[in-house]
Amino acid sequence: MCGFVSIIGVQPAAPALALGLQAIQHRGQDAAGIATRDNGRLRMVKDLGLITNALPTHVIEQLPGDAGIAHVRYPTAGAKSTAQDAQPFLTRRPGILLAHNGNVINVPELTQALREEGIHLLSSCDAEPILMVLTAALSRRRAANHTAEDVAAAVGEVYRRVRGGYSVVAILEVDGEPTMLAFRDPHGIRPGVYGQRADGAWVAASESVSLDVLGVEKAGDLPLGEAMLLRPGRAPVLLPVTESEPKHCVFERIYFARPDSVMEAGRINRDRWRMGRQLAQEWRAAGHTADVVVAVPDTSRPAAQACAEELGLRHREGFIKNRYSGRTFIMPDQATRNAALRLKLNPIREIFEGQRVLLIDDSIVRGNTMRRIVEMIRTLNPVEIHVGIFSPPVRHPCFYGIDMPSHDELIAAHWPEDEAEEELRRYLGVDSVTYISKAGLADSCGPNICSACFTGDYIVPVSEEERRAINSERRG
Ligand code: SF4
Repeated sequence: MCGFVSIIGVQPAAPALALGLQAIQHRGQDAAGIATRDNGRLRMVKDLGLITNALPTHVIEQLPGDAGIAHVRYPTAGAKSTAQDAQPFLTRRPGILLAHNGNVINVPELTQALREEGIHLLSSCDAEPILMVLTAALSRRRAANHTAEDVAAAVGEVYRRVRGGYSVVAILEVDGEPTMLAFRDPHGIRPGVYGQRADGAWVAASESVSLDVLGVEKAGDLPLGEAMLLRPGRAPVLLPVTESEPKHCVFERIYFARPDSVMEAGRINRDRWRMGRQLAQEWRAAGHTADVVVAVPDTSRPAAQACAEELGLRHREGFIKNRYSGRTFIMPDQATRNAALRLKLNPIREIFEGQRVLLIDDSIVRGNTMRRIVEMIRTLNPVEIHVGIFSPPVRHPCFYGIDMPSHDELIAAHWPEDEAEEELRRYLGVDSVTYISKAGLADSCGPNICSACFTGDYIVPVSEEERRAINSERRG
């Protein structure tokens, strides 16, 4: 997972890019980068760490130019991170800046094919093959002075050769003018939005919260199957490239995106609220009762509130989250792991003691965090612990850009689907477990969603070989 912000028509662009990027720090904490274009000159800085560490103010202030791209990168499980793998990427001939959010499935195949064309990749980041395919396609048409028609053909080449989920922004010269190019894969799996400032500047970003901090109203979602050209003070130019079939990642709505973001079907907070209400109805239908509803912070809060409202129960904050505990390191033993969790998430005794508690969480992936949370609150002597999850069992890995463990590490992948609730109940040692149903999730989030991690129905096919390659990279 990653996040990007791109701006054209703001002088200087770099401080605004950094500001917009801060709003989406949650999309990646592994590395950050900014690249700008100043009268055709391209400059770039990127480093490992949070934005404030990777992009110090004095560095940002030295990046001139009225257009650019900023990016945050999510830690890739198993892979050794280097600053070289951080985004954005650039080519000098023609001059292009590019970043993306998502995952390219066929990187090994592309790497080999590009090598045969004399193009050698310098990183293990999948933004680089996208940039190289785009650049090679443009260069085949002409060396410089690219037209909108050239760009449409080059994006067509990306669609033909690059498989996966990707949301891409680039800054380059088109028809003799500095231009922002934006496109998403034909299913729009990964999100992307854009908007225009009152002075005519354009901003595109992974989430609308970046637009909010820059005082920009969302104009729409980035197109799928089309290339969009944005130039300051002008209307967007849409270049149809290929057919599209929307399948937006539902996990963004469940877990990943900020609740105040608006993407595709509406505000994330509204979707989480609907999921909570739906879960409450299914939980009640199963015949359970409780005294209090508690969210596992932070993602689950709107769903837990909706759940409590629907059930006519109290909603209480049961945990205090330590915002300054930083990254959780690999802990050598159970006792240290428990201490680390407690440092991050401390339960409030009075909320749990003597109560029948309904604990709400967004998803269960490996199951070990929820197990430790249950162990922790068990010591506070609740009468009953019920667990409600507002996603169905995660039984299949994601190959489209959400950093999930491999199939073997997904706890629900080891159980028959209709036994997942009972198996998880036993594993956690709680009184009941209720997952939202697949139909309930679809009702809450609307049509046109990718839910392959629950169903195994991958809209972009992934071969066995590609699965093995991605899984082994995850395991490191
Ligand atoms: S498989 Fe799951 S996490 Fe991946 S894009 Fe689809 S819904 Fe999102």
